[in-house]
Amino acid sequence: MRLKALFSLSLVLAVVSATALAQQPSSSTATPSAAPPHTQMYVEPVLPYTPSLDVQSMDRSVDPCVDFYTYSCGGWMKDNPIPPDQTSWSVYGKLYEDNLVYLRGILQEAAAAKDRDPVSLRIGDYYAACMDEPAVEKLGAQPLQSDLQAIEGLQNVKQIAPLVARLHLAGDAMLFGSGSEQDPDNSDVMIVGLGQGGLGLPDRDYYTKQDAKSKEIRQHYVQHVQKMFELIGDPPATAKQAADTVLQIETALAKASLTRVERRDPYKVTHKMKVADLHALAPNFDWTAYFAASSVPAFDNLNVDSPAFFKELNAQLNSVSLADWKTYLRYHLANSRAPFLSSAFVNENFGFYRQYLRGAKELQPRWKRCVQYVDDQLGEDLGQAYVRKTFPPQLKAATLKMTLQIEDAMALRIQQLDWMSPATKQQALNKLHSIRNKIGYPDKWRDYSSVKIVRDDFYGNVERAEEFENHREFNKVGKPTDRSEWAMTPPTVNAYYNPQMNDINFPAGVLQPPLYDAKMDDAPNYGNTGSTIGHELTHGFDDEGRQYDAKGNLANWWTKQDAAQFVKHADCVVDQYAKYVVVDDIRENSKLTEGEDVADLGGTVLAYVAWKNADKDMQLTNSDGLTPDQRFFVGFAQWACENDRPEDLRERAITDPHSPAKYRINGVVVNMPEFGAAFHCKAGSPMVKPADQVCKVW
Ligand SMILES: [Zn+2]
Repeated sequence: MRLKALFSLSLVLAVVSATALAQQPSSSTATPSAAPPHTQMYVEPVLPYTPSLDVQSMDRSVDPCVDFYTYSCGGWMKDNPIPPDQTSWSVYGKLYEDNLVYLRGILQEAAAAKDRDPVSLRIGDYYAACMDEPAVEKLGAQPLQSDLQAIEGLQNVKQIAPLVARLHLAGDAMLFGSGSEQDPDNSDVMIVGLGQGGLGLPDRDYYTKQDAKSKEIRQHYVQHVQKMFELIGDPPATAKQAADTVLQIETALAKASLTRVERRDPYKVTHKMKVADLHALAPNFDWTAYFAASSVPAFDNLNVDSPAFFKELNAQLNSVSLADWKTYLRYHLANSRAPFLSSAFVNENFGFYRQYLRGAKELQPRWKRCVQYVDDQLGEDLGQAYVRKTFPPQLKAATLKMTLQIEDAMALRIQQLDWMSPATKQQALNKLHSIRNKIGYPDKWRDYSSVKIVRDDFYGNVERAEEFENHREFNKVGKPTDRSEWAMTPPTVNAYYNPQMNDINFPAGVLQPPLYDAKMDDAPNYGNTGSTIGHELTHGFDDEGRQYDAKGNLANWWTKQDAAQFVKHADCVVDQYAKYVVVDDIRENSKLTEGEDVADLGGTVLAYVAWKNADKDMQLTNSDGLTPDQRFFVGFAQWACENDRPEDLRERAITDPHSPAKYRINGVVVNMPEFGAAFHCKAGSPMVKPADQVCKVW
């Protein structure tokens, strides 16, 4: 129920979801740690070990020059069917699953221990409260009652604002998003940000598309909304009517919303204004009451991502009746809280969002959901225990060293670029050298001591943790930017570049085997983790990131000619990926995936250059029947091994800025002549492009 992030992060992948227990041979990668703080029987949790280059995961019956992804991942795909509670299954997903098992051990220990420190007390009690399913079950819809009554008690449309402020603070998504963000013109300062939102389906396109499948999805959605109304006590006939009302309001908001492709243009989501301008833009919403009820510190400036959206919201506030607004708010309250209520709500929520839309067969067991809620709500408490046991200083030093080497490779590539003028190169190098490298975990841990966690009040814990987080966001307004902050928790198996911070962030969770593997030779490590580091670094210079300067301000540092050259080179990538089919008859929306595709290509090239340089004085030998260069590329491909459900691919074709796994590998190697040479591919092979068609951006 976290509010939508208002700033844009470029991730290495969209979502990693939790999964069934992984069955793996295990030898520990966990570091020795202090003895458990109590004397009960206690087994130290360990992360299972899988090597970063695994020949078992390959399918050597496939010709690497025809389909390199299946050659590298065919064995993995055969051995790793999608678990029933997953919407897809991948190397990243499996590692995340291992992390969940491991974190469960930490949480069970924290819940049971005596004489606990404050961190263990919070995460242990939160987890114990969440795991008390009978208590949650007994409450049914009761926890919603006071908020439902507040909605029912609205006397006029003007009163919506302070109520929505309170519900936003409690984490409920409705009408629009709000929070703080860096001033686009002065990244050192935090200002208020408002963003489009208020929809129940995963994207505005779900409301506007007129094909048969989209119509079918909307029909299912209305049925789902109807069931949610019935769960909060409406009779079926009025519930059906109420569901139609929700779809109607959301459709109007969707039509006024920017598309995902439009949102990739920073200038389209940057509209700085004074508070008075906001009042003029949407006078029917009582902004003064909204910001007062949100306890936002006094401010002058804010950024509105989409003025057209707020104009439409304003029009809707005038034309939609108060009764219909109550209907809309009741649904979004129930929808946001459903995961934290009794099984009737949880199952209905799962049935639509994960089962129907994304193809999962089963709900995740409660413990998995509870571990993820702790990670989401008290993530830097849980993260402390995680990094203490999984991320020793040697690992931090080794991965930082690799990061610096990749940055050196980027500097070299920039200097060698044949399409950029010396003046712009100087600017690019300046930006590169200003990037902040954040590895593993934050220098300073977030202090959750003001969050009241009660062992027998799961729902209250969720509300209080959300309020803490949303107050924390708003309280940044008017203050200097904290550049040490992280937007991901340490156990997260993902990474990101933040263009306004100009930083690259690699949580400890993404620096574990089978991704970064200290036991493995350099080639697959540079292929895998090196490419990920290069990927995030390249985001600073993709079609979106390149528009921000070294400080993270939205400021143009390109000559006109160089900008045109960039677009021309990036369009080569856009045209290549536009030909790929995602599922059925759906092709890639390669204007949506452009930044990720450019980062995938750039990242792998940088990793290759960095590896060649790092190992230039070493005598490299063949292993597993693979040459060192082949090991680099197989190591690269094996980060992406994945099985997908068609339903999930269909959703991701609309919402995910990343290409499907297969193209994230095959689409890169066709642009690297080093690959064709490593596998002795003949000219004309599917994995070898004619030299004059090879795409090169960075
Ligand atoms: Zn990315």
